[in-house]
Amino acid sequence: MSETRLETRLETQLETQPGFLLGTAELTDANVERIAHLLDRLRADPGLAGRYAGTGPVTSLSELAGVPVMRKDDLQAALAAHPPKAAAAATWIFQSGGSTGSPQVGYAPTGLYMREVYENWPALGPDDVFVNGWSAGKMWGAHFLVNAYADHAGCTAMNVGAMTKDEYSAWLEFFAKRRVTAFGGTPSVLRLVFGHAREAGIKLPDLRAVLFLGEAWDPRIDDDLAVVAPGARRWGMFGSTETWVVATNTPECAYDTWHPLPSQLVHVGSAGQDGSVEEEQFLDFTTLNPEGLNPILRYQTGDAGEITACPCGDPRPALKILGRRDGLIKFRGHLVNVADTLAEVGGVPGVAKAQLVVHEYADGNAVLEVLALPSGAATEGLAERVRDRIAGAGFGPSIVFQRNPHALRVTVVDALLGNERTGKIPNLVTRRES
Ligand SMILES: [Zn+2]
Repeated sequence: MSETRLETRLETQLETQPGFLLGTAELTDANVERIAHLLDRLRADPGLAGRYAGTGPVTSLSELAGVPVMRKDDLQAALAAHPPKAAAAATWIFQSGGSTGSPQVGYAPTGLYMREVYENWPALGPDDVFVNGWSAGKMWGAHFLVNAYADHAGCTAMNVGAMTKDEYSAWLEFFAKRRVTAFGGTPSVLRLVFGHAREAGIKLPDLRAVLFLGEAWDPRIDDDLAVVAPGARRWGMFGSTETWVVATNTPECAYDTWHPLPSQLVHVGSAGQDGSVEEEQFLDFTTLNPEGLNPILRYQTGDAGEITACPCGDPRPALKILGRRDGLIKFRGHLVNVADTLAEVGGVPGVAKAQLVVHEYADGNAVLEVLALPSGAATEGLAERVRDRIAGAGFGPSIVFQRNPHALRVTVVDALLGNERTGKIPNLVTRRES
């Protein structure tokens, strides 16, 4: 298809269905079949059968707009009722967040759908020497997903994973000596690594690509790269453990603007199940890849966004991500549910009420401080018990703190932090520290 024709078709699509963003054009026959399959799977869950009973068949985007949106709990129920199996090789389960007591999961076949990503996003090539800096383990998917991408690129790759601060210099010098051309990680890790390199005077002259996934880009990394690796440009992937990679961007794109993959349909502006105005910019996702294991049909992740034009010159409408709207925060690349975490802490004997404070430091470090207001006078050992409840759970945010014990601080206080104007005590306070 010529570029002009594609552009015209997409303009037409936006006029008729302004809320939908599709990497190709209208729904194909294969898409229609996929949506029918997803509806069947959701109806097979007794808890969801009623909601989807009158839905379908869906043969157009306007009919798809009438399909109810689904939330995280709906997907987890459907996955628990009928755990998916890949058609060939292994079926992998990864952790996508949730509370310390009940991790939410997403399934993927071997390969983690990275062929389509590689075909649409040339971040690495066979000549690259790539360092995978996403932490591995505890069922987090990013590290493995990017390795699957490296398989398609045919590059040389090193699995470094998470580094502790006192290891940075030695590893950075090794990367320089090995003429590393590409490095990937969450932006909070990238900020720490390149900030350290800048401070230590270590240069990576061969670095040309910095891959990011898991958090919004931090423009302060650009300042570090200008000194450490002036030839390096950022390449981003956007998605979640349930949807897998939804969209990508290149160095020519705005850092918060994304181009959906052909098999990923994004709807912008669903009002949420209760139709409240605050939720009007919620995104929902439909995975049209016939091999997709998670039944992702108008799935709301909690991210908000809007349709925009990208400065890269790609004529297709692009997606600007505006951040989260659902009480989840990204802390060191992991989703932390503020309300669930406070409920956990509130369940520790001796705690009357708690509050989370995120301290963001100029060097890119972040510390989560839990303020615990005791219910009685006896506070001995209370901070340790709170700490154990969060860091010792094995699930949820504990992953972050097992790797970075200093990133969690527990303080027993006489009073929580209130808003002076309203007197309200917010669940979460964010502080920028110098
Ligand atoms: Zn672009």
